[in-house]
Amino acid sequence: MHYINVILPIPVQNVYTYRINEAEAEFIRKGMRVAVEFGASKKSKIYTALVYEIHQNTPEYEIKDIHQILDEKPIVTESQLKLWDWISSYYMCSLGEIFRASLPSAFLLESETIVYKNTVFTDDKKLNDEEYLIYEVLQQQVSLTVEQVSKILGKKKVLPILYQLFEKSVIYLREEIYEIYKPKLIKYVRLNSVYESSNALQELMEILSRANKQREAVLAYFQLKSKGKPIKVDDLKKHSGVSSPIIKSLVDKNIFELYEIQTDRINFEGTTGDLKQLNEHQEKALQEIKQSFKKQDVCLLHGVTSSGKTEIYTKLINSVLEQGKQVLFLLPEIALTTQIINRLQKYFGDKISVFHSKYSINERVEVWNNVLENKSKAQIILGARSSVLLPFSNLGLIVVDEEHEQSYKQFDPSPRYNARDTAIVVAKLHNAKVLLGSATPSIESKFNSDTKKYALVSLKHRHGNVLLPKIELIDVKEKTRKKKMKGHFSDRLLEMMEDALIQKEQIILFQNRRGFSPVVECVTCGVSPQCPNCDVALTYHKHREELKCHYCNYNRAMPNNCSACGSNTLDTKGFGTEQIELELQNLFPEHKIGRMDLDTTRGKFGYQKIIGAFEAQEIDILVGTQMLSKGLDFANVSLVGILNSDRMLNYPDFRAHERAFQLMLQVAGRAGRSKKQGKVAIQTYNPYHQINQQVSMNDYQKMYEEQLIERRNYHYPPFYRLIKITLKHKDYNKVEDGIKWLYQALSNAFGGYVLGPSTPAVGRIRNQYIRNVLIKIPAKQSLINSKKHILKIKNAFESIKEFRPIRFILDVDTY
Ligand code: ADP
Ligand code: ZN
Ligand code: ZN
Repeated sequence: MHYINVILPIPVQNVYTYRINEAEAEFIRKGMRVAVEFGASKKSKIYTALVYEIHQNTPEYEIKDIHQILDEKPIVTESQLKLWDWISSYYMCSLGEIFRASLPSAFLLESETIVYKNTVFTDDKKLNDEEYLIYEVLQQQVSLTVEQVSKILGKKKVLPILYQLFEKSVIYLREEIYEIYKPKLIKYVRLNSVYESSNALQELMEILSRANKQREAVLAYFQLKSKGKPIKVDDLKKHSGVSSPIIKSLVDKNIFELYEIQTDRINFEGTTGDLKQLNEHQEKALQEIKQSFKKQDVCLLHGVTSSGKTEIYTKLINSVLEQGKQVLFLLPEIALTTQIINRLQKYFGDKISVFHSKYSINERVEVWNNVLENKSKAQIILGARSSVLLPFSNLGLIVVDEEHEQSYKQFDPSPRYNARDTAIVVAKLHNAKVLLGSATPSIESKFNSDTKKYALVSLKHRHGNVLLPKIELIDVKEKTRKKKMKGHFSDRLLEMMEDALIQKEQIILFQNRRGFSPVVECVTCGVSPQCPNCDVALTYHKHREELKCHYCNYNRAMPNNCSACGSNTLDTKGFGTEQIELELQNLFPEHKIGRMDLDTTRGKFGYQKIIGAFEAQEIDILVGTQMLSKGLDFANVSLVGILNSDRMLNYPDFRAHERAFQLMLQVAGRAGRSKKQGKVAIQTYNPYHQINQQVSMNDYQKMYEEQLIERRNYHYPPFYRLIKITLKHKDYNKVEDGIKWLYQALSNAFGGYVLGPSTPAVGRIRNQYIRNVLIKIPAKQSLINSKKHILKIKNAFESIKEFRPIRFILDVDTY
């Protein structure tokens, strides 16, 4: 008898055994998908499961046959299965959860899946009879469940047919988010650089002396150029009154050149260029990295902002590609890094595939298959967190850019893995190397390099030897006392802004979102309208006169009167980005203001639009949140203003200071990247706070040393490991009883190293009450044993009847 153990794409702890016949046993291999029935007989469903083990050990209980085999060859590799084992034990989650998180959902059809007709498909001649039947029904109705498909075809085994229909683009699946995007190509014009000197210019005017219209076009060009911005062809036409053929004739004469600024990232159609020549510091760093890889697997590249880390990555990537190996380039958040994608595409063209959970299912399936088959298109994978879970076959290098970013850690749902740390395990499985890059390394990674677990390479100079920005602290308390504040702006910051604008330079203003939402407050009684489902005040959205919950999306119209005291004294003067934008419009009515935050960047391409507009200098002042801190490279930004650093510093979290430092230095790093030294103004109530001081001196080392002492004294990473347990339920008393029991049980096992129970900043979300306990595990204590203990306690907890409905969430290495 032959059996297989399969992973089901549901959060059950175990693998399940099914029987296969002799012929199937010949064919089946680990990592193939099979359709199986699972669940109590009445409610059982068909799932797509994954073969995890093949064996001949007859189980003692009754065993079902599989429905059928779905693949001809494995779609998950052996090394992925090993990785899943590691993730499952390290992050204390089930293989099913990892299976679900790893595979594009199109690989996981089940009987509940709903399929829709895909209107792009018209070529019905390609279909066989059964496929055609489904296609025809979908002409009459928009969707079908898998069960309906099964009835229509009069058979049970329909998943392979659906997979084929999906591959032929006849159907799509429920989870699909559809967005049609055409990159907007804007044409710009510039003068051929041979005419840049004033002599050449005179010559040009003479050449054109008898071509009046062309002369006018060139003169208009110079007028527009004095504004210091890239010049759109449309603007030139408008300004000079000349027509397209005139401009074309100037292009034909090699006087004008046309170019485009576009922000598309999916298809690369341009031509690739040569890699940039590294400067001496970069060259030295590259050699050090290569040298370190002879002895060590992980290297931390600590290079100040704009030192050219990206250029070093590209050289390293190039040398790994030359060995015929794949490269994974991890980015903290793909939507924010279109610039890096464009830069890499210039060098590597269509050897790059981008993988992101926001991509359509088709695109993701395609990337998965290309990586698995080691196609030439998938030599470099650029992706966010989840791309560490791809089926690499021949990996040589993983670059983790901005390695300090907390978005590498998956927060919800399980598996709650950290992609940076997982990358190191993936690399081990492939004998590959890892390069971690940051201008502000995480305390953990820096510590690992101090203790020689990782190699360390430093780059202290900006490219072109541009000095690091000059950072000025502005005391808001004093400015307020002296009545030198206009709204949220000090006279000093305004002065610096005016200077920059006169010089035609751009400005970035940073406003940390957390805790800064514009909350409505009643001036009479001090009450703020609350979300009915969450323990949090509603946020005011001016443009729609609406109050909104950022946790559950509840919204209501802005009321006229306070619900507590009835008076009409609701004050909406918050300190959100929207408010700042309004103030700026009043302060600088002549200038174009842009805003980049969650509200203005919705949709798959929301970021690109704003980043593109700022790059094209259509926006003079860009106000935004955290998003501004992530690796953006704008040549013309000379001033960065941080409107208030205090809430960042006062946030109750052991990483708050580290994060505030990283955030401020990263935002500051957007200033003065190309020509001259940039300026940064930080407004704060506490100019003498050590973090503000360290930021202003650009003193990473001091910050690191101080934070490390605190971490040691107060028992936090890297000296202690943290495991957080969260309980959630809609009944307050149930959660309360549960957490007390749990705290007691954990304390008995772990003594003083259990903290809590505590309530998070927002203690109720979507009507679920939330309570936490935190377990600290000293470095010298066995992590494996500690986890075994915790799982034992979890089992005991779940065996108590009253506690069974409570959600029990484990978060290892919590952030
Ligand atoms: P980082 O990633 O360290 O912040 P970047 O790689 O973005 O720095 O480099 C900053 C800017 O300097 C970019 O516009 C980049 O094109 C330019 N640059 C860096 N190194 C070189 C080089 N060797 N030659 C030409 N330009 C460079
Ligand atoms: Zn809510
Ligand atoms: Zn009131």
